Amino acid sequence: MDFPCTQCGECCRHVDKVLDPNSFTYKSSPTVIKDLIDRFPYQINKDGSCSMLDSNGKCKVYDSRPIICNVRLGGLLLHQNQLDWFKNRADGCNKLISDAGLDPKYLVSIDEQIPEKTSQTYEEGRSGPRKKRRRKNS
Ligand code: SF4
Ligand code: SF4
Repeated sequence: MDFPCTQCGECCRHVDKVLDPNSFTYKSSPTVIKDLIDRFPYQINKDGSCSMLDSNGKCKVYDSRPIICNVRLGGLLLHQNQLDWFKNRADGCNKLISDAGLDPKYLVSIDEQIPEKTSQTYEEGRSGPRKKRRRKNS
């Protein structure tokens, strides 16, 4: 399951706040996140937005975006429960969306059923028959 980002673009319009080493966000982040922030590869525009944000509010490099921009991978890196992490991130998105006065269609909602389905699939996979491995040179 991936994070149901509505592509409102608000987090990318204020990326300077996340990347600022003097910000509370940066200072309170664990080292693994600080490292990713320090290695953010793109220029920041004067208005605080990311230079990879296009005029329609979409990321120009979405399929290869940095890990720090990928909500799902961020949760995995921090060993967070996926549902709790997504809810937490959705709250952050929705605050940005409300503060910016964007159309409510951009509000993020988390489908609480999806992680359960994911976990069932995982368990089914675990209990299924194991494939035999072939040894090399045999
Ligand atoms: S603020 Fe949230 S919903 Fe909007 S683009 Fe960023 S991750 Fe997606
Ligand atoms: S790289 Fe893409 S997803 Fe990351 S801040 Fe820039 S525009 Fe947003």
